[in-house]
Formats: sequence, C-alpha cells, structure tokens
Amino acid sequence: MLVVMSNGATKQEVERVCETIRAMGYSPLPMPGAQRTTVGLVGNDRRVDDSLVAELPGVAQIIHVSNQYKQVSREWKADATIVTIAPGVSFGGADVPLIAGPCSVESEEQILESAHAVKAAGAVALRGGAFKPRSSPYSFQGLGKQGLKLLALAKRETGLAVVTEAMDDEGANLVAEVADLIQIGARNMQNYSLLKTVGRIGKPVLLKRGMAATIEDLLLSAEYVLSEGNPHVILCERGLRSFDSTSRNLFDLTAIPVVHGLSHLPIVADPSHGTGRRDNVLPMARAALAAGADGLIIEVHPHPERALSDGAQSLTPDQFTHLVVQLRRVAEAVNRQIAETPVGVA
Ligand code: PEP
Ligand code: MN
Repeated sequence: MLVVMSNGATKQEVERVCETIRAMGYSPLPMPGAQRTTVGLVGNDRRVDDSLVAELPGVAQIIHVSNQYKQVSREWKADATIVTIAPGVSFGGADVPLIAGPCSVESEEQILESAHAVKAAGAVALRGGAFKPRSSPYSFQGLGKQGLKLLALAKRETGLAVVTEAMDDEGANLVAEVADLIQIGARNMQNYSLLKTVGRIGKPVLLKRGMAATIEDLLLSAEYVLSEGNPHVILCERGLRSFDSTSRNLFDLTAIPVVHGLSHLPIVADPSHGTGRRDNVLPMARAALAAGADGLIIEVHPHPERALSDGAQSLTPDQFTHLVVQLRRVAEAVNRQIAETPVGVA
C-alpha cells in the first residue's frame, strides 16, 4: 500500500502516518518526492485495511499495489531508477554502459589483456568470474580469491568498474570487497538466502534471470534485495532454456520492454549467454539495445579458442571493437548513447 501525502503535508502529518502504520504491525517507508511525500507500507502479503490511515490529516490518496512484488513495481515508483556502480557509470538513464570481459578470470596476463582491450573498445566495466557456477563439477570452477585479487589489479591498472559473481553468502562478502556490481547468476536467481545477503551488503546487484524463471519470478527475486534495504538492483535478461537446441538459450528480447512496463529498475541484456554463439552476439546485441536495454554485458576473450569457459560465445577484442562501433549507431537511433569512459579514469 502507498500513502500519497498532499502537497502541503507537514512533517508531523507524515510522522503520524508512519506511527499508524507501525501500530498496524507493518513498516513505513517514507519517500520524499519533488512535489510530495509518499509513504510505502511494507511487510504485508495481502491487501491491508486502509481505514486507519485514510482518515489521517495530510493524506491525499491511498494506492493498493496489485502485484506481489511491490517496491520494484512501477506502481510503487513511477520514475526510472538509476543505479550508479562507480563514479560516472550509471544504468537506467540515457547512457548505456557496456560491461565486457571474459567468462572467467584465468590468469593475470589474460585478465589484464582483456581489461585493456575492452576499455580501448569502449567498455566502462570489466566482467570476469572468480567463482564459477559450472554445470559439471569437473569443469573449471574459477580461481576463487586469487581471481578477485586479479580483478582488483585490473581495476587499479585500467580504472574500469568490476562486475563479478557471488555464489554463496561467504563469497558475497569477499566479492563485495572488490566488485562495484555483484552478479547473482541465473542458477542462483532464487537463492533467497543469497539475495537477502546481498540486500544487506547494500552494494549494487546485477540479478540475472533464471533459465526457467518467469518475469514475475525475476521481479520477486529483486524484491528480496530491495526488501533488505538495497535499492541498487539491475536486472539482466540472459536467455531461457527451450526445446530448440540450435541456440544455447532462447534470448527473450520481449522481456526488456515488459520489464520496463512493470518495474522502474534498469534491465541489461546478455546476448553472449542468450545465444551461446559468437556469430549471433552482434545481431542480438543490436536488437537488445534497440528494444530498450539499459546496458549490455558481453563476453570477450583475447584468445577465445583457449578459454576455460564459454569460449564459443566469446568475442575477440577486434569483434568487440566492431560491435561497439555498431552499437553507437543503434543508440543514436533510439535517443541513447553508449556510455563513455568517465572523466578522471586514465
Ligand atoms: C556468466 O555470466 O558467466 C554466467 C555464468 O552467467 P549465467 O548465470 O547467466 O549463466
Ligand atoms: Mn559465461
């Protein structure tokens, strides 16, 4: 439930609404706006009786949020949320930041070469997994803590923001020391304990859609993070499992405008996992940007044929450079721009 206060409502009137909500057994969340304050009521899982609040002085309107997800919904907040992960790197506005790098951090040489290459091509954030959620326990599991150290080194050398995945509660705290954006992978989208942990950590979160998750499931998972007090969530479409094995996944482009309609949170697209095939990454990256994606995350490896994970979908640095040139043109057509390296980053 949202309590919209009148334009001239006093501080005392807002406080009285908050007190009443507490007395009803729920939590008030005051949200001051440019025109007027709105007080959200959280903690309910069904429609609440609004009679005690509706009669209070200064209350202009009561809105009952119809979805199960509340704080992530457009009903709750009409304006798009802008999530800033590092100075000058923001998702959800006119700028479209590009996140690029290898699937996994493999060695110092590999991550530094990747970081310099994607930065030169126009990326503003470096991706690379240190903790890897692999389908087989016998596949490369990532360098772990050593991988995080190498990401920190790449960040010091290039100034790029760092995006890397956390797989469990303990890992989340380690990842948070290095990452500007903590990735929750598709396989963990419904790991509610992990979602609560990153909600409490408070750093920006990249929440990837599960491979068999509905859009509602995705938004409810985001709600877990917001409900712990962390509003800095970026959603990510990365493709769904389908009956057709031609592509690794079925890249759900429609999710982008649908999510924009339902939620104020930014959504980025991952055409690398979405297609699984290097030759399909460029066309689907263009399409995702045209569909309204607020950013792109692309796998790039200096030597894809030697990659320890996801080589088949990784672009070479040259291919990524070409992709950025094309994306700049698509961005112009939809009144956006590919984010430039922030001032002050050498
Ligand atoms: C990844 O980003 O390398 C990854 C494992 O992604 P997803 O969780 O979408 O499979
Ligand atoms: Mn990958």
